Amino acid sequence: MESEPIHILGAGLSGLSAAILLSKAGHEVHVHEIREDSGARFDGDFQGLENWTGDNDFFEEMSEWGLDPTSFKSNAFSIVDLIHPDDVITQPKTEGIAFRVVERGTDEHCIDQGFKRMAIESGAKIHYKSKRDPKDCRIIAAGPKDSSAIAFGEVFHTDHPNHVSFQLNDKLAPGAYSYLIIIDGIGLICTCLWRKQKKSGRYLNETIAWYERHYELNRKPIKRVGGKGDFSIPDRYFHEGRYYVGEAGGLQDFMWGFGMRYAITSGALAAKSILGECDYESEIREKLLPLIKVSATNRFLMNRIGDRGFKMVAQHWMRDQRKKGDGLEFMRWVYTPGLVRRMLWPIAKLAMLRKKKLKDGRVVTRMPFRGSLSRDSWEQSERALEISEQWNDVRKSGGALSFPDSDV
Ligand SMILES: Cc1cc2nc3c(=O)[nH]c(=O)nc-3n(C[C@H](O)[C@H](O)[C@H](O)COP(=O)(O)OP(=O)(O)OC[C@H]3O[C@@H](n4cnc5c(N)ncnc54)[C@H](O)[C@@H]3O)c2cc1C
Repeated sequence: MESEPIHILGAGLSGLSAAILLSKAGHEVHVHEIREDSGARFDGDFQGLENWTGDNDFFEEMSEWGLDPTSFKSNAFSIVDLIHPDDVITQPKTEGIAFRVVERGTDEHCIDQGFKRMAIESGAKIHYKSKRDPKDCRIIAAGPKDSSAIAFGEVFHTDHPNHVSFQLNDKLAPGAYSYLIIIDGIGLICTCLWRKQKKSGRYLNETIAWYERHYELNRKPIKRVGGKGDFSIPDRYFHEGRYYVGEAGGLQDFMWGFGMRYAITSGALAAKSILGECDYESEIREKLLPLIKVSATNRFLMNRIGDRGFKMVAQHWMRDQRKKGDGLEFMRWVYTPGLVRRMLWPIAKLAMLRKKKLKDGRVVTRMPFRGSLSRDSWEQSERALEISEQWNDVRKSGGALSFPDSDV
């Protein structure tokens, strides 16, 4: 047992999961968080905790590590509306749980607060509004640094029942996808931009207009939220005595940005490594890196295809579901590092990623935020302009916009 206290930089999901395991094992743990609370990077937006990159249900995995999945609110889904680029809506479904929706933020039921409570109960000390030199920290869990993509959404009141839609549409979400999540009377419509745009707000307004036309939302806007994702693969995950976990360690899904599972898993693995139960570097290389590489190869392919390709993906997904009787099988296949995508990886890496030396001495190959294309410029619909006006009014009367570094 180490007698020295263990310092962790960042009280997000990855840092806190490491803190919980280490303090449960009897270590003195200090977590240093630059913001005023865990989850303050987010503002009540819904995120999906996926259940397709591992063999087991992720909540079972969390329980095995000693993390209590009932410490925060979650809603399980086995069905989703898949919106094709030509507005056709189909429904991938599974017998089990495809994903769970959790809320990010500082409210009591948010996942960040659940992890905070678990960390405090296990004896970890969390220091908020605290600056600490990363060199003094054993675990670096400080989240994303650069932007490779952004997500921008609106949270609203609605009387629509609980629901999730996932839309592949290169116009409304350049290079990516948009989604609608409704949980217990609160909705989120979010568009993800994998190509950098001036005034991301117009993409969100047009996306909201689209969802309003297709769902009975009776939408009453509350606030707008957003953030960035950093997609990079470092040369090392353990460097000069420090463990790099979560997005600080480049552990993020290049394809859709589902980074929470990687964050929690890598935090747990770093703690286990310190406890002498595994070797962090080799665990990440064996368990997570192949998934990340395959997601990057998929992203490389998706960057090339546009709406015609998105339509093919959606059709293939539904054909696969008809054949296998389970829509989740397709998502599992998407993340399986098969021969073809393993062969494509060097090409994807060369064409899509750029080398960068970080201040801490690590070298990453990262996905730069791609530039916009001529097809990203279009006239906004009348309804989108009205939605923009509506948001301006909501904002003037106190509606919050929490989207650091944004140009909206
Ligand atoms: C809008 C949006 C939507 C998303 N949707 C999904 C989704 O649906 N599903 C999914 O799985 N993932 C999603 N993600 C990604 C997911 O949120 C992240 O991958 C995940 O939170 C990463 O966890 P982390 O522990 O690495 O970072 P975080 O949970 O962000 O924690 C990092 C913490 O470090 C703190 N920090 C930063 N710098 C310092 C410093 N110098 N000193 C001390 N503390 C510091 C930050 O304040 C923060 O609290 C989304 C991300 C965004 C932005």
